[in-house]
Amino acid sequence: MSVSPFKAIKPSRKSIPLSKVKILSPVQPSKIILAGLNNREHARELRIAVPGEPVIFLKPPTAVIGHRDNIVYPPGVKRLDYEAELAVVIKKEAKNIPVRQAFKYILGYTCLNDVTARDLQKKDNQWTRAKSFDTFCPIGPWIETSLDPSNLRISCLLNEKLKQDSCTKNYIFSADYLVSFISRIMTLFPGDVISVGTPVGVGPMKIGDKVEVKIEGIGSLINRVVLPRRLYR
Ligand code: MG
Repeated sequence: MSVSPFKAIKPSRKSIPLSKVKILSPVQPSKIILAGLNNREHARELRIAVPGEPVIFLKPPTAVIGHRDNIVYPPGVKRLDYEAELAVVIKKEAKNIPVRQAFKYILGYTCLNDVTARDLQKKDNQWTRAKSFDTFCPIGPWIETSLDPSNLRISCLLNEKLKQDSCTKNYIFSADYLVSFISRIMTLFPGDVISVGTPVGVGPMKIGDKVEVKIEGIGSLINRVVLPRRLYR
C-alpha cells in the first residue's frame, strides 16, 4: 500500500536492502501536466514549429507506474516511443504563482518517461489517446528535494544503448516558468506532477525492451515493455 509523502510517515528503523524492496511511484498525483515541444531540436525532429508559449497536455493519474513496473504495449499501436523527461513534484496548493515564487511550491524533482503511441498522436491530431494508456507514465524512482534542475544531464538508454543525451539547460521554458504558467490555468495540488519535456532523440520501443530515464543528481527510472495480459480466455 502506497503512502503519500504528504501524510505522516513513521520510520520503522528497519533496514532492508534496495534489491529486496519494491519501489512504488513516489507520488499519486491528481493530475500530470506535461510540456510538449519544450526543446528546439525535438520540435524539429517532429516537424512541428517551436511554440511562442508552452504547449501543455495532460495524462490521467491511471497512467502512473513506478520504477521497475512494466509498460504495457497496447494492441493495435504501431509505434510506441520513449521520452526522457525531468518532472517537478508540487509541494503545496498553487494558484496564480509568479515565476520568482515558484520554487516555494516545488517539493522536488524526479524522472518521468512520457510514453507515447506516436502513430495515434499523428492520426488523432490531438494527443489524449496517444499519451493516456494505463502504464504510459513511469515516474520515479524517488523525489530529489535538494537539487538545482537548471543544468543537469538527461539521457535515455534503450537496452543499455544511449538514445537521448542532452542537458536540462536546453529547455525553452524552465521548471519555475511552467509552474507559474500552469498555476494561472489550473490549481495545483500537493503531489501533482509537471513534466518539463523531452530532448531530441525520441524513438520506438519493442516488447521486451528495457528503457532507462537517467537524470544527473536524481538517478535512473527503469521499466520494461511487455505484452498485455490476455483479457479474455
Ligand atoms: Mg513529452
